[in-house]
Amino acid sequence: MFGTAVRQLGYAWSMMSGRRFRLRDVSALVDDLRTTLETFGSPGEGADDMLAGNDPELQEDLTKRRLRRTIKHAAAESPYYRRWFAEHGVDPASITPETIASIAPTPKSALRGMPSAFVSDLAKPALLAHTTGTTGTPTLVWFSAYEIELMSSMAALAQMLTGGVRAEHVWANAINSRSIAQVIAERSVTRTGAAFVHLGTVDPAAALDRLATPLHVPGKQPQITHLNLTASYLGALVQEAERGGWTARDFGLVEIWSGGEVLTDALRTRAEETFGATVMDGYSMTEIAPVTGQVCPDGHLHLPPDQGLVEVLDPVTLEPAAPGEIGTLVVTPFSTYRDTTLLLRYLTGDLVRALPEDEKPACRMAAIPATSRVLGRMSESGITTRDVLDLLQGEPALPLPTRYALDGTLLHVVAGKDDPALLSRLEERAHGLPLTGIVLAETPEDLPSPCHVRADLLEHSFERPVPPLIGAR
Ligand SMILES: [Zn+2]
Repeated sequence: MFGTAVRQLGYAWSMMSGRRFRLRDVSALVDDLRTTLETFGSPGEGADDMLAGNDPELQEDLTKRRLRRTIKHAAAESPYYRRWFAEHGVDPASITPETIASIAPTPKSALRGMPSAFVSDLAKPALLAHTTGTTGTPTLVWFSAYEIELMSSMAALAQMLTGGVRAEHVWANAINSRSIAQVIAERSVTRTGAAFVHLGTVDPAAALDRLATPLHVPGKQPQITHLNLTASYLGALVQEAERGGWTARDFGLVEIWSGGEVLTDALRTRAEETFGATVMDGYSMTEIAPVTGQVCPDGHLHLPPDQGLVEVLDPVTLEPAAPGEIGTLVVTPFSTYRDTTLLLRYLTGDLVRALPEDEKPACRMAAIPATSRVLGRMSESGITTRDVLDLLQGEPALPLPTRYALDGTLLHVVAGKDDPALLSRLEERAHGLPLTGIVLAETPEDLPSPCHVRADLLEHSFERPVPPLIGAR
């Protein structure tokens, strides 16, 4: 085990200093861990400490050092920040986590408008990823081979250590193939020894067929065991499973990983019953990789501090959100992990609530900083995506994925049919929300404005013919 110990020292050194990792150290650690798991069945002592330190003082010191290096790189190497620091007369070396507010947050529009202005002069761009937002124009984010290899190895370590992924598992991705999460998942899952399936966001009926069909390959579970998707596509699968009479017995699923959209308790519970698998809720975004968050059983979103600086800022004033108040997640990924697209204080636009002062997490992830779960966006009248989805997904008669549009304080909902009893149930449950009325719409076309969900990013497949696009012939 000498090699392991030496490599762990190298890994620990990079973690401590905030300098770049030696990829072969991290990669060898993945192989060591896999061999250990396959030989002894468990990772052994000390494995928990390998991914992150639990000492708050040490963590504070690390954050300070990593942030300093990150700002130094961004100010010196990227056109956008070079110009920003010169124009505003701010000394990049003077910034600490306490004075970070002297750097203006970076809006999404800046990155979307000119992705190359955020790429380091020293970068070796290798892969262009697209975001899959539903607002129209995608944001393009360049990644290097270093970033992809490092993030894949780190994801493999996390999948084995905390995710329980083992060689007999079969992991299927039903997310958009243009995202960085797709590339990293394929590499990380195969590094653990598990198998990877590109399922894609295909027609839900075709996806259920694939999930249920036995695989018959040596060393693997008979059916797909892990499924990664967005919350709206999970909704589409639940709806199709209920319509087609599928039950949990038809599937071999163990865990379903949902991300990219607001997941409600109602949908999670319904999906767990339908598929007989645990549904996990996570937070990630192409631009801020490898910063990711995980929702604990107590319903907090925990965001580990070692891969980036995470702030919660008031959406209007951009000052730190007070305890109990709603704020936007603002993230600075550390340059230890990112050397291509450099971002400082990136405004994700995703709202969370800062935990109230009297709410101290007591869950198993309590040592990791937390916020509320993601609330989505907020309407002018102060209604969040989560408010609406909680209301609507609590009503099983409404079709999934949930589609709605807010017209001021009037909520339009796709219900598939006129149903006065359903409407009155919704009106009763909407008590307390700033709504003046609910209107049931028959089809998505009847909504006053389009409701795009990620399940709409459907990929064509010959398994089930998808109606041709208008004018496609
Ligand atoms: Zn928690």
